[in-house]
Amino acid sequence: MQDLDDALRARVTAAVDARRDEILGFFRDLVRIPSETHPPGGDEGPCQRFVAERLRTIGLEPDLFEPWSVPGIETHPGWWPGYDYTDRPNVVARWAGTGGGRSLILNGHIDVVPAGDRSLWTHDPYGAEEVGGRIYGRGTADQKIGIAAMIMAVAILREAGIRAAGDVILESVVNEELGGYNGTLACCVRGYAADAAVVTEASDLNVAAAAKGGQVYTLTVPGLAFHHAMWERGVSALDNAIRLKEALVSWERLRAEETRADHYFGDRARALHPRAVHADTVWHLEAGDREIMANPTSARMSFWVDHLPGEDREAMLARFEAHVLAVAAEDPWMRDHPPVLERAIMRPFSGVSVPPDAPIVRSLRAAAAATLGREVEVVGLEGATDAMIFNLYTEVPAVVFCGGSFATAHAPDEWVEAEDVVRSTRALALAILEFCGVG
Ligand SMILES: [Zn+2]
Repeated sequence: MQDLDDALRARVTAAVDARRDEILGFFRDLVRIPSETHPPGGDEGPCQRFVAERLRTIGLEPDLFEPWSVPGIETHPGWWPGYDYTDRPNVVARWAGTGGGRSLILNGHIDVVPAGDRSLWTHDPYGAEEVGGRIYGRGTADQKIGIAAMIMAVAILREAGIRAAGDVILESVVNEELGGYNGTLACCVRGYAADAAVVTEASDLNVAAAAKGGQVYTLTVPGLAFHHAMWERGVSALDNAIRLKEALVSWERLRAEETRADHYFGDRARALHPRAVHADTVWHLEAGDREIMANPTSARMSFWVDHLPGEDREAMLARFEAHVLAVAAEDPWMRDHPPVLERAIMRPFSGVSVPPDAPIVRSLRAAAAATLGREVEVVGLEGATDAMIFNLYTEVPAVVFCGGSFATAHAPDEWVEAEDVVRSTRALALAILEFCGVG
């Protein structure tokens, strides 16, 4: 096993740059094959067969399997039921190393969120049009850039006669979007494992080594109706809801103090968002009746409360609920008519992190620095990715790393820079050699 020296780095860079048109062609083909997820089903089949064919072309033997076909998966604690996996295969292929190196999983999801209202798009969501250096389409940023880059990185290394010492496992999974995650879980339960995993969601080539966990809540607040002429005799559920919204603010303040020392989220310089812990995120509030003209007898609001890696999820949610109920109990009427906090039924999202000095983080930083000519950040993400599945349920430390920006994901006219697709391929090719060693 040799070190990755400057001459080899230059050889990899030249090999990738020489295949620029082919990389972009493959990427645009992937974008042109819709692979929308529509829970409980999804349309990933045709795009996954295209991926499998590409893997065969480069000399790998793809393993295609639908998540629900993996023995034992339905009793796994990470399995979230209710999905239909008909014609939704995962595609996995192993590139065997020469021996003696660390093994690496490169994981990306092929499914995309629906294109939505076509009138909001100025480009065909499945046209992969290239305009002014940008390629437009649903799934360009989230995350066919990662699928294209990881497959082309392996293809180009192989065809340039450069071998890795450790095995590389390519995973193109279904059902990540809209709360899925069973696709990656199925790869884990099927037995695919490695010394580390890279989830190739766009991160601008920063290394995202942590993510928050959280829970969606609905809070229902009661009131007491009187005719609006006798308003003072009633109790407005809306006013009480506003009081309890303040309880979300005070929870955030309390938690900001407690989490000040957190490596990824406590120090705002490292976090991607200025608030360490969110609770005051009410996105829906309804109260009262438009016609009746009396104090609202009910108000409901929905919001997200997050917690950090290393914190006990259940304990943190229980503490949060007690905090809200304690604020309610300060009000004489709400003391006798307490609000109801309901946890939305969803997969548990737990905070996860990989240490900032882990070998995979070091390798990715080196690969990114060689690609960009500058140091990159090690950051924490606001939301979950498939990295959570590895970190929560397996011994495989997983981080998020790829080029491109997440800023246009899930929006009309989603796009990536064409150059970022090439740059990501270069970064992942170097990352493979940095982590797995040169064979
Ligand atoms: Zn994604």
